Amino acid sequence: MVDDLLAGHGRFRADLGANERKLLAGLAERGQRPVAVYIGCSDSRVIPELLTDAAPGQLFVVRNVGNHVPRTSEGDRSVGAAIEFAIGQLGVADIIVCGHDGCGGVKAALDDLAGLDPDSDLATWLTGLRPAVDRARAVSLDPAAELARAVEEHVLDCLATLSERWIDQPGEGATIRLHGWVYDLANAALRVYHEDAGGFVPVAELGVDPRSP
Ligand SMILES: [Zn+2]
Repeated sequence: MVDDLLAGHGRFRADLGANERKLLAGLAERGQRPVAVYIGCSDSRVIPELLTDAAPGQLFVVRNVGNHVPRTSEGDRSVGAAIEFAIGQLGVADIIVCGHDGCGGVKAALDDLAGLDPDSDLATWLTGLRPAVDRARAVSLDPAAELARAVEEHVLDCLATLSERWIDQPGEGATIRLHGWVYDLANAALRVYHEDAGGFVPVAELGVDPRSP
């Protein structure tokens, strides 16, 4: 119930410590300077600030069904507007695309949008996931592995679109870094695309010190 959320807001305010109040007041006064754009799925189980332990002000978040970055031909401007604002106005130099295992959007695309009105916003939006789904299907896999593969392929498609539209343009994007992640819901663990490895590698294998700030 929504009243539970308002009650939660009361707890949030009651639990704010002095340091947190100072951080939030400082952000209000000085403005935001996020370290990265995070493009993720709207799925309620994949919460960017939770899985990265990010503080307010650190992530510039764009969430939509299937963590999609539309190509120019798809007509959407909202994702592009957020990216252009983050790069041009906030000076963000890192863009993360984070998919997740068991994604309902990718699954619907794999199921050929069965049961959806083909003219609906949802079906039209998910059509953009088709190339990734087709590549996953081209490999003979069991259904669970096929979905996992499609999720990864779609993250790679989104990185390619980001490169084409905002990074590889003359005079622009030279300093922008792209990152592909997939979040494993069951194990609460990220895999990160590693070009040298040619695939997604568990963060635990990358040697990142969890105690580093
Ligand atoms: Zn999803």
